[in-house]
Amino acid sequence: MLKAILLYLSRQKGIQDFMMNFGVTRRVVDRFVSGEQLEDGLNAVKKVNSEGAIATLDHLGEEVTEPDEAVAAADVYLDALDQINFNHVDTNVSVKPTQLGLKIDKKLCEKNFTKIIERAKEYDNFVRMDMEDSDCTQDTLDVFKSLRKKYDNVGIVIQTYLYRSEKDLDEILELEGRIRLCKGAYKEPKEVAFPKIQQVDENFVKLMQKMLLSGIYHGIATHDEKIIEITKEFAQKNNIPKDSFEFQLLYGIRTELQHRLVKEGYNVRIYIPFGREWYPYFTRRLAERPANLFFFLKNFFRA
Ligand SMILES: Cc1cc2nc3c(=O)[nH]c(=O)nc-3n(C[C@H](O)[C@H](O)[C@H](O)COP(=O)(O)OP(=O)(O)OC[C@H]3O[C@@H](n4cnc5c(N)ncnc54)[C@H](O)[C@@H]3O)c2cc1C
Repeated sequence: MLKAILLYLSRQKGIQDFMMNFGVTRRVVDRFVSGEQLEDGLNAVKKVNSEGAIATLDHLGEEVTEPDEAVAAADVYLDALDQINFNHVDTNVSVKPTQLGLKIDKKLCEKNFTKIIERAKEYDNFVRMDMEDSDCTQDTLDVFKSLRKKYDNVGIVIQTYLYRSEKDLDEILELEGRIRLCKGAYKEPKEVAFPKIQQVDENFVKLMQKMLLSGIYHGIATHDEKIIEITKEFAQKNNIPKDSFEFQLLYGIRTELQHRLVKEGYNVRIYIPFGREWYPYFTRRLAERPANLFFFLKNFFRA
């Protein structure tokens, strides 16, 4: 119930504006967001790299409604890729399709992605298309498939809470696409998504196994230790080398687990968001764990 309310609030523009204008301090948001500027994101990448992990940088923002905003968002990523190269840090980028105009015009979105992917290609870098709510799934996949035919440095995300995901995954594997597998972070109706967490977890394990057996380099994105252990055991049993896939975790969540996985010799990638548009991302993180809400409220009223 609380999760559903928070996910509903994450989409309310009025509340977002209020929170931004209220000037919620860095202290509250800092746990999940590296800072407002690209430099903050790059500093977080440097730290993560020094701890033996790699990263993916996300410029916060989604659901843009004006073409100019979508082009400006793409420009931030072009700058980010230049700076990543200049600073010799080990990170790729993750981009939300609605930030590049998916909901305005699919072609505009693809054009913006093309610019970013081509710039990344110049630096031998990689672009991950994040997956958003189920209204966007088909359009995101359409854009991805079109781009994948031209570029090999673009990847996508599959969410295990969606009924359709196994079929989508099979199609992406046919294209030899690189996949990040996650449970899914949005509020979805039972018409499209498994209502029980146990079903979501079972689907995760099933799809993870297909991915690992595909011989393509994929990302297993979860903080769920049970699933991480099952993944490790499956890889070991099937002689799948540790360096042929990676675990992915979010900035500020289960840091001790990140360190442990690095120590055990796994590739670990940390998703590092930066930017001013923190509200929807931050509220989804609150929804994932009610304890976060109490941490937030305590600090909000102290702020
Ligand atoms: C690298 C990465 C990229 C992602 N990209 C996408 C995407 O493109 N699209 C999408 O829909 N979703 C994305 N997600 C979010 C994902 O779908 C889940 O919502 C999120 O990872 C929580 O699920 P979980 O697998 O960690 O399992 P859960 O069962 O939710 O959590 C397992 C354990 O992890 C810890 N944990 C989980 N979340 C939190 C939190 N917010 N705060 C503190 N502890 C927590 C807790 O200890 C919890 O018991 C991404 C996640 C990761 C790690």
